[in-house]
Amino acid sequence: MRWQGRRTSSNVDDRRSIGGGKLAVGGGIGTIVIVVIIYLLGGNPGEILNQLNLGDNSGQTVTTPAEEDEQARFASVVLADCEDVWAQIFSESGDTYREPTLVLYSSQVSSACGISGSSTGPFYCPLDEKLYIDLNFLDQLQEKLNAPGDFAKAYVIAHEVGHHVQKLLGIMDQVQELRGQVSEEEFNEVSVRLELQADFLAGVWAYHAEKMFGILEEGDIQEAMNAAEAVGDDHIQMQTQGYIVPDAFTHGTSKQRLKWFMKGFKTGDMSLGDTFSAKTL
Ligand SMILES: [Zn+2]
Repeated sequence: MRWQGRRTSSNVDDRRSIGGGKLAVGGGIGTIVIVVIIYLLGGNPGEILNQLNLGDNSGQTVTTPAEEDEQARFASVVLADCEDVWAQIFSESGDTYREPTLVLYSSQVSSACGISGSSTGPFYCPLDEKLYIDLNFLDQLQEKLNAPGDFAKAYVIAHEVGHHVQKLLGIMDQVQELRGQVSEEEFNEVSVRLELQADFLAGVWAYHAEKMFGILEEGDIQEAMNAAEAVGDDHIQMQTQGYIVPDAFTHGTSKQRLKWFMKGFKTGDMSLGDTFSAKTL
């Protein structure tokens, strides 16, 4: 992806120096919580405490500050691209796009939606309208899922921004209202449609960002397609459990995610993204 030399966003909240192993050196509530959780999970808190006290990062991918800055600048440029694209699309229909904040963190983070660890993966919290991403964890995840590439990373950010767009359009609230009113199975089905729409919106972003900035290089779309495929629920469940449980799906299958991303990317047309009334996903 071509991204060097472009505008960065002013809406990045870099909290990577907080929440990492070294932060807990002073102890306090955070450490106690972590120790209790580790204990409950059957781990050895003493070992972890030693690591925290020594500020030892063994077992984690160590990135140099320069690499981290490069990663953060990349995320910031993608976020700025999202701001430009969505501001234009919203203004075309007479609306104003409210820009979300991107929070970069390491290990764990506290949001209006609760405390989350890296293993949650990238997420959007509709309550504070912020996206939360641990870039190192994202790297590791991409490695594990065999979905490398910077455009794959951009796709993940654009997907989370897609959730923010859903929030602004009132779609996320409508879906949340259904919780408790329909069966768990039905709610899950609606959640899948919400996720696939976020993939569609990521595709719409890629279409317009290419038009505005010429972001794409050879192989980029393949990278996004690999990522979409790799993070399909069926794929992840096959890897972690060795079998597929359709009712437990929350993101859609690899094929569905790919299909909706490509639909957005090929057309850039917002009117084609109604995953909720689509007969086949
Ligand atoms: Zn999502």
